[in-house]
Amino acid sequence: MVNALFCCLKNGLRLKSSFMAEKGDLKKVFNQHVQLEDFFTGFSIKSDKPAQPAQSPSNDTQQQLDEIAKEVDTCRKCELGSLRKNSVPGEGNPHADIVFVGEGPGADEDAQGRPFVGRAGQLLDKIIAAMGLKRSDVYICNIIKCRPPENRDPRPEEIISCLPYLKRQLALIHPKIIVALGAHAAKTLLETNKPIGQLRGKFLDYYFDDFAPPVKLMPTFHPAYLLRNYSHENRMKVWEDMKTVLLELGLEVPKK
Ligand code: URA
Repeated sequence: MVNALFCCLKNGLRLKSSFMAEKGDLKKVFNQHVQLEDFFTGFSIKSDKPAQPAQSPSNDTQQQLDEIAKEVDTCRKCELGSLRKNSVPGEGNPHADIVFVGEGPGADEDAQGRPFVGRAGQLLDKIIAAMGLKRSDVYICNIIKCRPPENRDPRPEEIISCLPYLKRQLALIHPKIIVALGAHAAKTLLETNKPIGQLRGKFLDYYFDDFAPPVKLMPTFHPAYLLRNYSHENRMKVWEDMKTVLLELGLEVPKK
């Protein structure tokens, strides 16, 4: 009886200390997130110059993008087409100067049929806002348009099947700058195997085809990578990349 009581107390203490440790970890994670939240907030533009000149909407480009979205929605070129809930073709300003290209939809994007609406998306929204822009100023899409099960990496054959949709979108929008978010986007669009850590930080050329002049492509870390790899250094690197993009477009860099 005494032994049983002792055992209970001991287990209780063990549980309590593991609960305390977990609580400590949770607090650490929470604090990290608060810090991250702060990193890309509080930027503003001091002058009256608009962040991006107003564009006159051309229905034609939007219509053609809608056509691509319809094709994507019925696409069965790879197995992902029959596994996903919703296709996620992309969205935004058809005349955007900047197109952000991510890897592929996750669970939240699959549920809503919209790109970057989960946690990584919330961070991307913050980065865009820190740049003095709105989500509706830019275009956001992915290398692959359907969610791979369990959020696994897209397979080469899936990327190959899906890439023509993205290439058509980019050719239609013809942005001044493409921001490749993460290794998959950067390596695919630049047709290279170099790691993202080596690619990021400078403009590289993206070729629409063999004839048209290239546009500038800025590789940077994926917001999901930033969420996983918490360091001031990594966040600074992404911010430096975005500042380079703004300067190239002749836009003012917001300051804290
Ligand atoms: N990650 C991506 O690469 N794309 C999304 O749309 C969402 C998360």
